[in-house]
Amino acid sequence: MQDLITRLLIELGEDPAREGLVRTPKRVERALTFLTSGYDADIDEVLNGALFSVDYNEMVIVRDIDFYSLCEHHLLPFFGKCHVAYIPNGRVIGLSKLPRLVDIFARRLQLQERMTNQIAETIREKINPLGVAVVCEGTHLCMAMRGVEKQNSYTITSAMLGAFRDNARTRMEFLELLKLRSPAVGLAIPAQTPAGVSCLDE
Ligand SMILES: [Zn+2]
Repeated sequence: MQDLITRLLIELGEDPAREGLVRTPKRVERALTFLTSGYDADIDEVLNGALFSVDYNEMVIVRDIDFYSLCEHHLLPFFGKCHVAYIPNGRVIGLSKLPRLVDIFARRLQLQERMTNQIAETIREKINPLGVAVVCEGTHLCMAMRGVEKQNSYTITSAMLGAFRDNARTRMEFLELLKLRSPAVGLAIPAQTPAGVSCLDE
């Protein structure tokens, strides 16, 4: 990878031998390896010992989980907050594991829509709850830095499964608990985000 980064610096018109860049290929390799470490993560290993049986079926909600990812169209960062809720059906996931789960799917080349769906589907698969809802709010540097969008705008994606999809009241209860930074947008969140809206493929 370091040879490729050196080559890239040359293609960009840089001198890879100048002082500030000498160790850059090594740093970039280390950074990219970490930022894509989600591919190698074993979900069962992460969740190991953190799935519990409960006699409880009220909504569990974890707000404001930070995520940092790389958009697969431009290899530039997108980042923001992820909110996760589910209604248990006899089993729960230890709360501290939800941020780990978000990291696993964020540390890849991603689309925000797909990341949102993967988090929701994994929770469904692991504990078979009555419903799962995942909402992500992300700022995409590929749009902001290139002037495609206004600097402070962010993209909201959602995945609603089971009771959150079928029951409008459940969905509203969740969205009200979230109090998204932009409430008007929150109320308009659809049950499923249309494909291809977060990062423009250009
Ligand atoms: Zn992009």
